[in-house]
Amino acid sequence: MTKRIAVIPGDGIGPEVARAGVRVLETLAKKRNLALAFDWFDYGAERYLRDGTTLPDADIENLRSYDAIFFGAVGDPRVPGGEHARDILLGLRFKLDLYVNFRPCKLYDDSLSPLKGKGQKELDFVIFRENTEGLYTGAGGVFKKGTLDEIAIEEDINTRKGVERIIRAAFAYASERGLKRVCMADKANAMQHSGGLWRRTFSLVKAQYPQIESSVMYIDALAMDLVRRPERYQVIVTGNLFGDIITDLGAALTGGLGLAASANLHPGRLGLFEPVHGSAPDIVGKEQANPLAMCLTGALMLRHLHYPAEATLLEECVARCVREGLRTPDLGGTKRTGEVEARLIQLLEIA
Ligand code: ATP
Repeated sequence: MTKRIAVIPGDGIGPEVARAGVRVLETLAKKRNLALAFDWFDYGAERYLRDGTTLPDADIENLRSYDAIFFGAVGDPRVPGGEHARDILLGLRFKLDLYVNFRPCKLYDDSLSPLKGKGQKELDFVIFRENTEGLYTGAGGVFKKGTLDEIAIEEDINTRKGVERIIRAAFAYASERGLKRVCMADKANAMQHSGGLWRRTFSLVKAQYPQIESSVMYIDALAMDLVRRPERYQVIVTGNLFGDIITDLGAALTGGLGLAASANLHPGRLGLFEPVHGSAPDIVGKEQANPLAMCLTGALMLRHLHYPAEATLLEECVARCVREGLRTPDLGGTKRTGEVEARLIQLLEIA
């Protein structure tokens, strides 16, 4: 059956990397006889500036009929408040209830490691970040704004349901892949109410996975340990804010934004796949955007669409590109977006 993919290239370098990503996926589809159909959508700054629309509710209903969303990036200096980007990306995450932000942190070549003595063998873990609650719901308010007595309150929302489902997703992932270790990170020493809920829920879920070694760490200690001993970690699960920060550390340990892929998931439902990087306005149109983060995002999407062998092949070809020195400036090279894409397509064709 044909898998229908909604492509939302968005703003900035989003369209540049989305075009490359789709061409790469089309090459793979042709070679391996995968039935993939791509429909393009123009949500983004251009459309917002033209007619004021961001992401109409009716369109969300239409998007639900797809098998996956392949998303570039949103953000444009002509919309300094970023309201269209918020509406589009957060709208999709919240309305589709994509509660898992899944971020693999895998080093594709030893030469990219910023850590002395740590290479591909040591740097290979995944992070499950809660994506719909925590400190990012917008709950709270300000009082006496603009005065010296101003009060700003940002509420940290943690529901039993929300905490349990992300922890379950992390354990299910580890169990399905025969992984041995799951670590939960919080700040229960300073934030007792939310920390208590997370720890009690973690204990309850981990009891159902006796074969998995589980641990709980404070987020600050985890940040330090990830740099010192990354090999100790296989699956990390944490809340929205801590996850936001620790996933950037994970990206920096494994080649940076030009190689970092992510998925926003609600297991069993439609997922949204996006590179970690944003619209990078400083390099738009300069052929400097690294398309590999988007291509690795495509591999994540293929795995989710039940094409694991093709996903692995794509990841191997990306690794080979990096090894061969097909590197854009973010990886210290001089290659252009199109050159990296062309070599990746060639590698897939001859694979
Ligand atoms: P946004 O507001 O859309 O998130 P931003 O400028 O804040 O955009 P990013 O776009 O994520 O943040 O990236 C920060 C910088 O990293 C960019 O300005 C760019 O120089 C570099 N960068 C990001 N993605 C890539 C990429 N795919 N290839 C090369 N360089 C990149």
